[in-house]
Amino acid sequence: MDFGLSDEQKQIREEVRRFAENEIEPVAKEYDVEEKYPHEIMDKAAEMGLLGAHIPLDYGGAGYSNLESAIITEELFAVDPGIGLCITSAAFGADAIMEFGTDDQKERFLTPVAEGEAIMGAAISEPDTGSDVSSVSTSAEKDGDEWVINGNKMWITNGSVGDYYVVLCQTDPDADGRYNGFSQIVVESDRDGFESEKITGKLGIRASDTAELILDDVRVPEDNLIGTRGMGFLQQMQFFDETRTAVAAQGVGIAKGASEAALDYAQEREQFDRPISEFQAIQHKLAEMHTQTEAARNLTYKAAWNVDQGEDITKLASMAKEFASQVAVDVADEAVQIHGGAGYVNDFPVERFYRDAKITQIYEGTTEIQKNIIARELLGKGF
Ligand SMILES: Cc1cc2nc3c(=O)[nH]c(=O)nc-3n(C[C@H](O)[C@H](O)[C@H](O)COP(=O)(O)OP(=O)(O)OC[C@H]3O[C@@H](n4cnc5c(N)ncnc54)[C@H](O)[C@@H]3O)c2cc1C
Repeated sequence: MDFGLSDEQKQIREEVRRFAENEIEPVAKEYDVEEKYPHEIMDKAAEMGLLGAHIPLDYGGAGYSNLESAIITEELFAVDPGIGLCITSAAFGADAIMEFGTDDQKERFLTPVAEGEAIMGAAISEPDTGSDVSSVSTSAEKDGDEWVINGNKMWITNGSVGDYYVVLCQTDPDADGRYNGFSQIVVESDRDGFESEKITGKLGIRASDTAELILDDVRVPEDNLIGTRGMGFLQQMQFFDETRTAVAAQGVGIAKGASEAALDYAQEREQFDRPISEFQAIQHKLAEMHTQTEAARNLTYKAAWNVDQGEDITKLASMAKEFASQVAVDVADEAVQIHGGAGYVNDFPVERFYRDAKITQIYEGTTEIQKNIIARELLGKGF
């Protein structure tokens, strides 16, 4: 299936898949079991231009489109979602700087990530703030020419390995309107008062770093504020079309990896003197898994392509995320079933796909929130 991809896009797909098979596959189990961040692989990914793949060429990035980023994400996640997330999230939060940042901010924060010298993150969620982003309570108060930031951020990807974070703060608590009064501010991890605590024991994506950030009177220069003061929430909402499409691509990758592994295994494993692929029950599972994966890919590519055309695709992005994440969970489940007992231990990648798939239904807005958005758009209700 090439969805009308250009020769260059097909080549990106092949190169990334080769990189993932050569560099990631042999060590994926080790990083998962040990819950360790793959610094060595990140260096190699940087050489391939995979960190900050969508950062513009002017700032040292590869300048890939959303469709190309989706292809890269799909191939990495088809081999290992945990390490795939480390690579694709190294520039998490960069969109805000790309869209609203000054030239100085772009040079300071985007170029080091694109060159593999820094890792960043986006810090929105808090212990008491998840689906309802408008209840963010981390505060940033102006003191002279600095912002003084206090609060806790929860579940932050790259939280204990990152160099800086785009932090959603409340800067104007008395502002009119529920969604005004928030601003996005870059906070460097080497500032006094910044601490992070790594969260271990995750169900899946265990190579990916997740942490709580503790911000205690952290002072940053006033020019770390991104865009217009008070518009941070609305700026943030603007990127969900891109980030939700990216999570949809993660789901497609997991479904692809799991369905390919199941197809291989079904032809190797023999019971009742024949490969299990000769049983119609298994054939139907394989047919359904590959059909679902293809459908999720088409919806995801359509969303990514539309983001690239500058379309406002709130409903389509939520549909792609909701559908592809469900497909990832369902296909990984069937892949384990086709492996029987062998699928229940970590000698085969399907055990990892099964655990890793679940996160795609949780982060960047849960499945329930995506359905709320789709229904709201269908009914013509504003948020
Ligand atoms: C591994 C991992 C990495 C993450 N990385 C980041 C990151 O880098 N940056 C960041 O800011 N956050 C990150 N998150 C946080 C993630 O975005 C939140 O967990 C997610 O938005 C859900 O919020 P919550 O966990 O507080 O759940 P809650 O909002 O408490 O939801 C609990 C349940 O209630 C449901 N629910 C809530 N509201 C409604 C409603 N209105 N209608 C119907 N159902 C509803 C939810 O769907 C869910 O089923 C990460 C989380 C994980 C687990």
